Amino acid sequence: MHLDSSVPGTEAPVTLSRRVLVLNASYEPLSLIPVRRAIVLLMERKAELIESGKRVIRTVSRQLPIPLIIRLSHFVRVPRRESPPSRNAVMLRDAHTCAYCGQQKARNQLTIDHVVPRSRGGSHTWTNLVTACQRCNQFKGHRTLEEARMKLLWQPSQPSHVTLVLLRNPVAAERYRLLVAGEAVAA
Ligand SMILES: [Zn+2]
Repeated sequence: MHLDSSVPGTEAPVTLSRRVLVLNASYEPLSLIPVRRAIVLLMERKAELIESGKRVIRTVSRQLPIPLIIRLSHFVRVPRRESPPSRNAVMLRDAHTCAYCGQQKARNQLTIDHVVPRSRGGSHTWTNLVTACQRCNQFKGHRTLEEARMKLLWQPSQPSHVTLVLLRNPVAAERYRLLVAGEAVAA
């Protein structure tokens, strides 16, 4: 398949770089994929179109609406891989909020803190990592919570796969929220 995305003056290249929310056959959000891949899945009938944008993409043979949400025809079992959380993912989970003082800050003013310090055998896992502002992190240093007389405002936990997918793309998350809301009304 060749996508006609190189026409000067069109927004096609921008559009093609957008991400499409993929739902499992069960309607559970699975992942975000490039528009190009979503179109291939649709053309191969491996997915159905749930929601599309107003713009179209021209392929060699036809015009297709740009997909926003697609749903896989067959249920995919997702292996729950225990990959170490990235700095970005921890900050997203914590909504860019310091777990010690509750201040919300820009990403470059935040750090990731090991609740039980690495030097004390603390692990690099979801439940031992929190977002912390530079001030709180510096104050805590290599001490434990007890030693530093600090408290966590919430207990860090491992987010579900779905939560992580949606956290990575607020636009897709909002589309999904509306979709679910719409279905609830129709049901
Ligand atoms: Zn703080």
